Amino acid sequence: MIEKSKVEFVTKPRLVDAYGRLIKNVRISITDKCNFRCVYCMPAEGLEWLKKDQILSFEEIERLTRVLVSMGVEQVRLTGGEPTVRKDLPELVRTLSRIKGLHSLSLTTNGYLLKKLAGPLAEAGLTRINVSLDSLVRDRFFQLTRRDSLQQVMEGLEELEKYPSISPIKINAVAMKDFTEAEVAGFALLARRKPYVVRFIEFMPLDADENWDRSKVLTGDEIKAIIEREVMPLVPVPSADPAETSTKYRFADGIGEMGFINPVSHPFCSACDRIRLTAEGMLRTCLFAHIETDLKIIMRSGASDEVLEEAIRRAVWKKEMKHYINDGEAFKRTKRSMSQIGG
Ligand code: SAM
Ligand code: SF4
Repeated sequence: MIEKSKVEFVTKPRLVDAYGRLIKNVRISITDKCNFRCVYCMPAEGLEWLKKDQILSFEEIERLTRVLVSMGVEQVRLTGGEPTVRKDLPELVRTLSRIKGLHSLSLTTNGYLLKKLAGPLAEAGLTRINVSLDSLVRDRFFQLTRRDSLQQVMEGLEELEKYPSISPIKINAVAMKDFTEAEVAGFALLARRKPYVVRFIEFMPLDADENWDRSKVLTGDEIKAIIEREVMPLVPVPSADPAETSTKYRFADGIGEMGFINPVSHPFCSACDRIRLTAEGMLRTCLFAHIETDLKIIMRSGASDEVLEEAIRRAVWKKEMKHYINDGEAFKRTKRSMSQIGG
């Protein structure tokens, strides 16, 4: 089982980049497939799925995780695409949860299959979860996800509450201008009524339809102002972790917690401790990276762990200094959209 205590299992020099940022966090995409088609992420149709032999097997994911943990990675988040559509996900969770030195094993999901999977995932050793939910109103949910599935997601969340070993339950809502404003108070009230930490995340230029532009970003500060006007003042909650992506607040009366992930208006690149692995085994050292390292080819060529480790170290050393979203022409979109990276 996951050991939350900080017993040291790092057997090698730690993974570090040229700016001195230690890498402690890996997001592993386990599939490019998804049962939703969120407008800020995927196209309505036309994406070709990877074939089975193109994506990493569970054994390859386990091997990579072990190697990364031996170099200081402490947190693994499984994502996609939609990770719950990959067959036997609880088996993968069980295997990874046994890796000594891993302090946190989490999942990011759209929640559609949670009613069925919450129990098996908890039993397999999952410790944290982020459920993506951008609207609490049925037709608006449909408008964003292109699926009429709000009810299933809410039922999935209810089911999760039965398993306190998965904690906290975080809800992530992508905030888009001229859409999300009308949802803000509803989400704030949800965070007060339920044991969910609700976080708003700013819309980033990673949508397959390439509709992003700055005018469509509803910033965390704008949302906070709406909450304070319509619901109640918020009080900052200090974070002990400098790499924490979200700025946290409590409601002034102490009931409920909200978070704001503001990568566009307040970039947090200088404290970034994350790397990403795509479903087909490409190591990406930034969401917006233009360079990738093919770890699948290395593993399938029969390379030793030492060779694999060296390839990871070299890639991490060149981790991007920052994203360039706020730097005008210097910003170039990456060829992948969010579902093909693993958010
Ligand atoms: N399918 C799962 C889900 O939706 O939670 C996991 C994969 S999804 C790509 C991971 C996260 O990325 C979700 O919280 C989603 O809302 C977020 N996301 C996708 N596209 C985004 C964008 N263009 N800007 C900001 N967040 C985005
Ligand atoms: Fe699927 Fe998640 Fe992308 Fe929505 S955000 S289309 S649920 S991968």
